Amino acid sequence: MSSDLFKYNEEREAASAAKVRALEALLIEKGVLGSDSVDAVLQYFELTAGPFNGARVVARAWVDPAFKERLIADTPKAIAELELPQGMAGAEGEHMVAVANEPGVHNLIICTLCSCYPWPVLGLPPYWYKDPVFRARGVREPRAVLREFGVPIADETEVKVWDSSAQIRWFVVPERPANTEGFTEEELASLVTPESMMGVALVPAAAAKAA
Ligand code: FE
Repeated sequence: MSSDLFKYNEEREAASAAKVRALEALLIEKGVLGSDSVDAVLQYFELTAGPFNGARVVARAWVDPAFKERLIADTPKAIAELELPQGMAGAEGEHMVAVANEPGVHNLIICTLCSCYPWPVLGLPPYWYKDPVFRARGVREPRAVLREFGVPIADETEVKVWDSSAQIRWFVVPERPANTEGFTEEELASLVTPESMMGVALVPAAAAKAA
């Protein structure tokens, strides 16, 4: 599986950055934005709300089955037990619902309407999540889409596709990979990718740690 699949195209990045700089300069010049407003928002999504939170939630679920049960039953309430940065309760945190992959069941998260996404645990959605083709094909032929993402799903495994909305923002608790018995919670969290919490990737089996 190639993680390049999820990388942003450099030319696209440069073009977007130039547009954003021009727009920001214009909005500041017209007095619509303060010069520090954009930095504050960027900092929020860099330090407070992002996939590092989701990774900690998943790692806790892997080491504590009772927490995992509570997480599935009432996601915001269970997440509130963890000492995560402020912001988890706001910015769509109240609408989050976790679903767990398990043998025989694979979950895929999409938003057919636009790009609804659980910001507190995953941050902002990547550009391809908003792609109309991904959104349409994710519903029509999830197995084909997953195969293209490098996640072949066995015929006997059920694929559940969850459509995020303003009311519910789904995320996936991926399966804990093999060879992680001796891992600390922090080490486990470092294995969890945003894509694995969207269902478009698996957490790969870890190399066994030297005893
Ligand atoms: Fe949406």
